[in-house]
Amino acid sequence: MTVHPFTYDAAPMRVRFGAGVVEELPAEIGVLGLRRALVLCSPEQEETGRAISRALGAHSAGVLAEARMHVPVEVARRARDRAADLGADSCVAVGGGSAIGLGKAVALEHGLPVVAVPTTYAGSEMTPVWGLTENGRKRTGKDRKVLPVSVLYDPELTVGLPVGLSITSGFNAIAHAVEALYAPDRSPIVSLMAQEGARAMAEALPGVAVGDFAARTAALYGSWLCGACLGATTMSLHHKLCHALGGTLDLPHAPTHTVVLPHVLAYNQDAAPDAVDALSRAWSTRDPARRLWDLAGELGAPRSLRELGMAESDIGRIAEQALRDPYANPAPVTYEGVAELLRAAWRGEPPG
Ligand code: NAD
Repeated sequence: MTVHPFTYDAAPMRVRFGAGVVEELPAEIGVLGLRRALVLCSPEQEETGRAISRALGAHSAGVLAEARMHVPVEVARRARDRAADLGADSCVAVGGGSAIGLGKAVALEHGLPVVAVPTTYAGSEMTPVWGLTENGRKRTGKDRKVLPVSVLYDPELTVGLPVGLSITSGFNAIAHAVEALYAPDRSPIVSLMAQEGARAMAEALPGVAVGDFAARTAALYGSWLCGACLGATTMSLHHKLCHALGGTLDLPHAPTHTVVLPHVLAYNQDAAPDAVDALSRAWSTRDPARRLWDLAGELGAPRSLRELGMAESDIGRIAEQALRDPYANPAPVTYEGVAELLRAAWRGEPPG
């Protein structure tokens, strides 16, 4: 085994995990030295947001159920104003990447600390990455001040996540682990988390599909590890492509990750032997790209960009975007290589 030089820069994060842990939120707010939190969630999860507000009791300042994809700046401003009106000194963001993204935006622009209660596997709660959309343009950046001061993972809150979204959200998490394994700034401890996160998630998803609670718990555990990998490393071609497909064509976040990931892994595999070894160990296979594609098929997840609504004629401009602003990737990123990858993903063919 060769140990390469590395830098490991740990994020200062507090994480609590377990069924029912959300009931300890009032005590957690006290431990953190906070008084009253505004609960943030999306309209679809207002009921969950209100239940959490009730559980918070005197520590709740109210609920703002307006979180949306891509964090519109006006929603972040409304959250700040509502927090000020209600005398809140913090936010509790409950939900997926959209609700947690809103909490991060309020932390960035207005300095209110955020406690995150994730209910999908997207992993935003573990990263210093923020996004804000103003006049149709999304700005993103990295800032440690958006890191939640505490993250509470409660698998009971994930039981209501529809099976289809659970599966694709799980693939979204695996994508963080895969790209962390060949990231330019990878380090041994993050690679261990990535291998274990990828293992736990892939093993859990068949059980999640049939409503098994132990599998739900294992999937949330996997999503924590995969999210930590996302927060600790720089992502490559896969995330670049999914960003282009989501931002330019408005394709749905998690299903797009599910379709693209096996193809990017196959594209990179010869140039990333250590990552392939780790994933082969995790999934007991010699062909991790094919294993991912098979798993998506077994679980009824989408496997083609065509079924997500992409037109074949858009392949060229997405490939062009993947070549803009150079970034590290194990295999050289060429227009023809990426266009071929996208054509296979568009048709739903096996990877490689
Ligand atoms: P999401 O947060 O948009 O949630 C999708 C839908 O599922 C919403 O309607 C939500 O209310 C609902 N939902 C969530 N959990 C539920 C549950 N347990 N039960 C029932 N319904 C539930 O989707 P997402 O995939 O979690 O997040 C995607 C967004 O997060 C994208 O905008 C992406 O860019 C962002 N993101 C950011 C980072 C980061 O590091 N900044 C990381 C990952 C994702």
